[in-house]
Amino acid sequence: MRLIILSINSNQNSMANLKDRRTFLKTLGGAAAISPFISSSSFAASLPNYTGKKLGIALVGLGSYATRQIGVALEETEYWKVTGIVTGSPEKIPAWKTKWSLKDENIYSYENFDKIADNKEIDVVYILLPNGLHKEYTIRAAKAGKHVICEKPMANTADEAEEMVKACKAAGVKLAVGYRLHFEPFNMQAQKWGKEQTFGRLDYIHAAFAFKIGDPKQWRLKKALSGGGPMMDVGIYCVQAARYVSGEEPISVTAQYGPITDKERFNEVEESVSWQMEFPSGTYMTGWTSYKSNTERLHASGPQGSFDLSPVFGYGPLKGTSRLGPMDLPIVHHQRAQMEAMGPMFLSADPIPSHCSGEEGLRDMKIMMAIFEAAKTGKKIKLG
Ligand code: NAD
Repeated sequence: MRLIILSINSNQNSMANLKDRRTFLKTLGGAAAISPFISSSSFAASLPNYTGKKLGIALVGLGSYATRQIGVALEETEYWKVTGIVTGSPEKIPAWKTKWSLKDENIYSYENFDKIADNKEIDVVYILLPNGLHKEYTIRAAKAGKHVICEKPMANTADEAEEMVKACKAAGVKLAVGYRLHFEPFNMQAQKWGKEQTFGRLDYIHAAFAFKIGDPKQWRLKKALSGGGPMMDVGIYCVQAARYVSGEEPISVTAQYGPITDKERFNEVEESVSWQMEFPSGTYMTGWTSYKSNTERLHASGPQGSFDLSPVFGYGPLKGTSRLGPMDLPIVHHQRAQMEAMGPMFLSADPIPSHCSGEEGLRDMKIMMAIFEAAKTGKKIKLG
């Protein structure tokens, strides 16, 4: 990492208060020490005596994930301060205003959001809206000259994701996707095992993530706002895991929709889907996702053994075991680890590391589009 040319708006010589590298590694739950996502040019060793200004972040959409996870994570981060909110729900404003001492002029509606361009206290905008709104708000943020973190899935379609990447590039702003598991020790260990071929070249990966969806009226069941059903919401974690554990990109997919057993809920999006992916070295993956049952697991096997993680994709605490024994790793707050890792990515002059960039989000979108196409047509879809 080239050291810290601040893209933040003021007080450019100063840096906030990372006490020492040990503190930072501890914040990450020791994860940087085993991180396969974090390359040698990474942030972990780069900010030993950070004493600068915190990055100002504005949260767009104050729903469940913003309130219960990202907002909570930001309370205890070294690099971030919530300096703005964007909401269509005035009743949510007082709690955020008090908690973060927000100025009235830093509180935006969806209508006047573009005025954020004039706000020097906001460096980064975090899009926490339903998937179908990610494209519009990412592009508006980029045009306002703000860096963007966008929640997963990046958009409703791969075409939308492509537009977002282009818009951020054209505006000269950074775009990251909120892939929290890239900073989570159990998932990082799984990726490390895959990369180092600890159990030989992996023959088989299985990943499943499913949960029982509640309210039949929620946006997750409306295609225009969600882009799809469980595949877009949680199946994406299985696609991600197959890619980061194998270390390869899939070359083809086949897929099958499960039956619709609940016509009230599932009249716009799939209820469940199974899929299979082939990787160039011969690794084969099966995936499953559903809104009708509860499971989260990741299995991988090679000639010298296997590993099984469950639970693995939710907020944990995660658990896992391998031929080497039970996994004994720190339990971290995923969103806090994510935000601590992302701070230096936005403070640095370097591009966002590829593993959590807009381009990475786009790759997942292309694969999920291929899974939908395969399920719809019954054909094997080749990926370029
Ligand atoms: P939510 O329904 O709790 O919140 C959505 C917010 O968007 C609400 O504040 C709502 O008022 C606002 N909104 C604005 N326009 C809207 C519209 N037209 N329809 C519905 N809501 C509208 O959803 P959430 O669970 O917070 O999810 C938000 C995003 O975060 C999604 O993209 C989701 O995939 C992602 N997410 C990520 C994780 C993760 O672990 N990374 C977990 C949960 C959600």
